[in-house]
Amino acid sequence: MMHNSGWVYLHQLGNIIFAGNAGGGVEPFLGFGHLNAAIMGAAAARTIALGRDYEKQIKSEMDRNYEMWKLRKMFNKMTNNQYDLLIGALGIPGVNKLLYSSNIHVSKYAAFISKLVLREPNK
Ligand SMILES: Cc1cc2nc3c(=O)[nH]c(=O)nc-3n(C[C@H](O)[C@H](O)[C@H](O)COP(=O)(O)OP(=O)(O)OC[C@H]3O[C@@H](n4cnc5c(N)ncnc54)[C@H](O)[C@@H]3O)c2cc1C
Repeated sequence: MMHNSGWVYLHQLGNIIFAGNAGGGVEPFLGFGHLNAAIMGAAAARTIALGRDYEKQIKSEMDRNYEMWKLRKMFNKMTNNQYDLLIGALGIPGVNKLLYSSNIHVSKYAAFISKLVLREPNK
């Protein structure tokens, strides 16, 4: 299914606050947006009620979205063999534990590593 996501900046213009889909909150790797919509909505409420800086509150979500976008771009270039290798790697003892049970920023490092692995050869 075709999926488009986009970036929004600024997220606040005067008393207009962009949250969720309207604020570019859709996670670009799989197109999930519920969690970011809730986080951004809560941040917007704090901005209105308490005067907190909206951009600062949502920075980590926007940074994560950027990493996921880079990861998505890498995935889009992968071949079937590379997908098979990746799925196979998930079964290696320790790898799935690293993915599911650690606090390591998996998407950030996965984006970096996949960029190295999938790098096009110099011409
Ligand atoms: C098919 C599909 C499957 C999805 N599956 C998942 C999933 O499994 N997990 C996940 O996390 N995300 C999923 N998403 C994404 C997720 O639904 C959205 O990211 C999330 O709902 C965004 O919430 P929101 O409040 O920002 O926007 P919305 O939920 O779109 O809410 C915006 C609301 O504003 C209303 N509106 C629009 N214009 C006006 C107007 N002028 N005046 C008044 N009201 C207006 C709309 O009717 C709507 O009710 C999916 C999306 C789609 C389309």
